[in-house]
Amino acid sequence: MTERKVRVRFAPSPTGPLHIGGVRTALYNYLFAKQQGGNLVLRIEDTDSQRFVPGAEAYIIEALIWLGIKFDEGVSFGGEYGPYRQSERKTIYKEYVDRLLAEDKAYIAFDTPEELEMKRKEIANFQYDASTRMQMRNSLTLSADEVNTLIEAGNQYVVRVKIEPDEKVTVNDLIRGEVVINSSVLDDKVLYKSADRLPTYHLANIVDDHLMEITHVIRGEEWLPSAPLHVLLYRYFGWEDTMPQFAHLSLLLKPEGNGKLSKRDGDRLGFPVFPLEWKDPKTGDLSSGYRESGYLPEAVVNFLALLGWNPGNDQEMMAMEELIKLFDLGKCSKSGAKFDYEKGKWFNHQYIQLKDNKEVAALFMPVLAEKGVTADAGYVEKVAGLMKDRINFIYELWDQVAFFFVAPAGYDEKTVKKRWKADSAAQLAELAEVLSGCEPFDVEGTETKVKAWIEEKGYHLGNIMNATRLALVGAPKGPHIFNIIEALGKEETIRRIRQAISILK
Ligand code: GLU
Repeated sequence: MTERKVRVRFAPSPTGPLHIGGVRTALYNYLFAKQQGGNLVLRIEDTDSQRFVPGAEAYIIEALIWLGIKFDEGVSFGGEYGPYRQSERKTIYKEYVDRLLAEDKAYIAFDTPEELEMKRKEIANFQYDASTRMQMRNSLTLSADEVNTLIEAGNQYVVRVKIEPDEKVTVNDLIRGEVVINSSVLDDKVLYKSADRLPTYHLANIVDDHLMEITHVIRGEEWLPSAPLHVLLYRYFGWEDTMPQFAHLSLLLKPEGNGKLSKRDGDRLGFPVFPLEWKDPKTGDLSSGYRESGYLPEAVVNFLALLGWNPGNDQEMMAMEELIKLFDLGKCSKSGAKFDYEKGKWFNHQYIQLKDNKEVAALFMPVLAEKGVTADAGYVEKVAGLMKDRINFIYELWDQVAFFFVAPAGYDEKTVKKRWKADSAAQLAELAEVLSGCEPFDVEGTETKVKAWIEEKGYHLGNIMNATRLALVGAPKGPHIFNIIEALGKEETIRRIRQAISILK
C-alpha cells in the first residue's frame, strides 16, 4: 500500500455551541495534521434535522478561527472534496445505501415505534439483530411485492445494516491499542430514514471519511462504542485497505476528577466550558465563553493541549508552533484528564507576561474606553508595563491602574488613621517643593533627590513614603512609589500632594 497523504477531519454536529472538549478534539486534529504535513478538513455533520440549532455552525467556525486552528478544506474554507456539509450530500449517501441493499448487506424495515416498543416488552434486552430480525416486519420477512406495495402506499421505512453474527471485529486504536469484539453484540443499526431522506450519523460518517480520503479519525472517547460498526461498514463496502486509523481521546473530567465535565460544573465553579459566549436561540440563556471572559487564545490552546497529552517532561509553556513539533498522538493518555481550571488562569497570566507592553496596552484600550478614560497610548503602555505582572486577565488591570488615570476621589480611612501623621501635611508640603526642583523628572532623578532631602532633614523615610502613596493613590497599593511619581509627571504629582494636604490636614 502506498503512503497516503495525511488527511484528518473535525466533524462537529451543529447542535449547539462547541464544548471545550470538542475544541480540544479540533486542536489535536490540527496539531497532528500540521506535524504530518497533512490536511485538516472541517465537515459539518448536520444529518440529524431534529437536533439542528441555527447559528451553531457559524459559532463553531468563529471559535476555531479565534483559537488559530486553521483548516485546509471544509465548510467555509472550500476544497476539492466538497460539499462538506452533510445535508448537501443526500444523493451521495443514497447511492451507498442502495449499494448495501443490493448486496444484501442491509435491509428495509417497516416496524413502527409502537411495534418496536411491544417487542421490547415481549423480549427482555431486545436488540434488533440476527437473533430477532426474522420476527420483525422487514424486507427479510416480507416478499419483494409486499415491500414495494408498502413503499408505494407511502409507508415510512428505515434501512438497517445486516450485521453478520459471530465475526471478529478489531478496532486498532492508536491510543488504546487493539480493541476486539464479537459482532454478535452489535445491533442492526439504522443507516437511513425514508421520512427525511437522510442517512444516520454512522453511514454518512463512513461514506464521507472514505470519499474524503481521511487517513486518521481522531475524536472523543464517546465515539469508541461506534467504532466496531464503522470497521464493519468499511468491510461491507470493501474499503478495508483505506480504512483510517482510529484515535479515541479520553474524556475531560470534572475538576474534582469523577465524571465527565459538564456545563453545570462551569456554572457551579464559575468557569466557561465554551470557547465563545453563546446565546441559546430558543431560551435566550447566555453561556459564558473563554474569549469574553478575558482569555487569550494562545493561553486556551496551550491549556487544552496539555489536557490529555504532555511532551514527556514537565515543560508547560508551548505556543502553537512548538505544540505542532512536539505533539504525539501515541502519547495521549488513555485515562480522563481533570479539568484544572486554575491552571487555565495560570496560563493566561503567563501569556500576558510574554506580551510586550505595547500589546498589553492595546488589549487594555477597550477597557479604558469602557471606563470613559481617554489616554495617550505611550502613557497606557508605561502604566500597563508597571502592573501586568499582577493580573491574570487584562480587565483586572483597571483595578490596579485606575489611579494613574483618575486622581483619588477620597482616601482610604483605615490608611489615613494609620499613615497620615501629625507632621505629614508639613512634610508633604516640603516634598512638593523638592519635587518641583527635580530635573529630569524620572524614577532615578526623583528618588535620589527625595532620599537626599529626607536624610538631610532626618525624617522617617517610611512615614513619608506611606503618606505620599496615600496622597497619590488614595489607598495602600500600587507599584514602587517613584514609578508612580514618574508616570504621573511633575504637575499631576504635585497637584495630588497639595490636594491631599488640603483635605487631610
Ligand atoms: N458528528 C460527530 C460529533 O459531533 C462526529 C464524530 C466523529 O468524529 O466521528 O462529534
